[in-house]
Amino acid sequence: MTAIQVPTIKLLIDGQFIESKTDQWREVINPATQEVLARVPFATTEEINAAVASAKTAFKTWRKTPIGTRARIFLKYQQLIRENMSELAALLTAEQGKTLADAEGDVFRGLEVVEHAASIGNLQLGELANNVANGVDTYTLLQPIGVCAGITPFNFPAMIPLWMFPMAIVTGNTFVLKPSEQDPMVTMRLVELALEAGIPAGVLNVIHGGPDAVNGICDHPDIKAVSFVGSTYVGTHVYNRSSLAGKRVQCMMGAKNHGIVMPDANKEQTLNAITGAAFGAAGQRCMALPVVVLVGEAQSWLPDLIEKAKTLKVNAGCQEGTDVGPVISKQALARITDLIDSGIKEGATCDLDGRNPQVPGFEQGNFIGPTIFSNVSTDMRIYKEEIFGPVLCVMQADNIEQAIELINDNPNGNGTAIFTRSGATARRFQEDIDVGQVGINVPIPVPVPIFSFTGSRASKLGDLGPYGKQVVQFYTQTKTVTARWFDENEEVGALNTTISL
Ligand code: NAD
Repeated sequence: MTAIQVPTIKLLIDGQFIESKTDQWREVINPATQEVLARVPFATTEEINAAVASAKTAFKTWRKTPIGTRARIFLKYQQLIRENMSELAALLTAEQGKTLADAEGDVFRGLEVVEHAASIGNLQLGELANNVANGVDTYTLLQPIGVCAGITPFNFPAMIPLWMFPMAIVTGNTFVLKPSEQDPMVTMRLVELALEAGIPAGVLNVIHGGPDAVNGICDHPDIKAVSFVGSTYVGTHVYNRSSLAGKRVQCMMGAKNHGIVMPDANKEQTLNAITGAAFGAAGQRCMALPVVVLVGEAQSWLPDLIEKAKTLKVNAGCQEGTDVGPVISKQALARITDLIDSGIKEGATCDLDGRNPQVPGFEQGNFIGPTIFSNVSTDMRIYKEEIFGPVLCVMQADNIEQAIELINDNPNGNGTAIFTRSGATARRFQEDIDVGQVGINVPIPVPVPIFSFTGSRASKLGDLGPYGKQVVQFYTQTKTVTARWFDENEEVGALNTTISL
């Protein structure tokens, strides 16, 4: 009886929000209260095929739509997102758990990509070389490639879908989005606003589901490119399966980011930065700092770091003053708790234990407070696995060389940061570290959209990153034209049968 009152999440096919005919549904649950907010369908194969077919048909006209027309839709879209910011953030906090401030940040970082999409007139430009031979010019066209697809994770349900479909669509492609089944509501609200901004029927489609929907995307012969953000395990699968089906693929994957603290760093700023980056958003950021390496005399800063972490307030994301909200699900809570248990069993020192915090009024929430381990070694599970919770491993190094070696030996290469007052040390770090995003006194160095997000080693597969200049290459096919035009009065020379011009 209650199920009837719970709203259902719709599919978007050919410009229509439709109810799925599937018999497989999943509940979208508020992680602070366990309230069931909605039910999300696992789309059927017919529905997935219908979404792709609609995108394929729409591509025929959308690919020829003038660049200014495309850009103006995204100008309107950024305005609509701004106007609806509070509503979007509240929806995001309800289904994902992060604080309202973090939720606004999530929407805002996506909005920046939409603004970037609106400037496509300066981005999708070919090259021209005049007179490559007598009377001959060569130039390139950056043409859209067709139906593209995006598969997104739960932790940034606004920003990451906005990394994908605006840039794909503004470059002239059509799109099929598969949002995270754990928190699809804010993504769907953003999709509604995209249609309101003027994206035509069929240009943007949305299907929901889990592994079957993802595999359907990887295998579909009419999908030309796949953009994935999520765990390394799933991303590797998506990369292999989609590549085998002949698609372009970019996969942004898991992380274990280290921050290096040099003894010459500004202590107060550094400890604040680390506390925010390790425990903010309950550690559920791919650019969080779950490992800190204290170098030399900075090792004596551990007690101050613990004291700072103790001041963070664990509460529901919708409550004022909250620093650490709940984690996404009971399963995530059980996994993080198990990893903390393993750290204790394997001999690390648990300096701050965040298990089972009391959160009055939200007793059912998936809460875990800031947790700090020291005496961590590289063979422990808490070091080897991505915890994706508010758990910080504190490690030690005698010097910058040791710290760099530790980071480069870790399989992941998503993000890293160094805290120092020495330009020479920072420069050495940026030069020698094998990691995609590098922060210098910046704990979470997510690039703004005039640059591209990237990643190294196990954190990324595919050579071009999402958004920025690289994604224009990803979503377009370069066509190189060599042209010779004859003047009416020009004497026609001998037939040229050689390869030289
Ligand atoms: P996930 O890999 O579990 O899910 C991502 C997507 O894959 C979802 O849409 C999900 O439905 C689908 N999926 C899940 N299991 C699947 C399977 N067995 N087969 C096929 N598809 C499957 O990731 P998540 O838990 O939603 O997100 C957290 C992960 O994402 C973390 O590892 C985090 O580091 C990573 N992440 C990376 C970046 C980045 O830019 N590098 C950004 C955000 C998150």
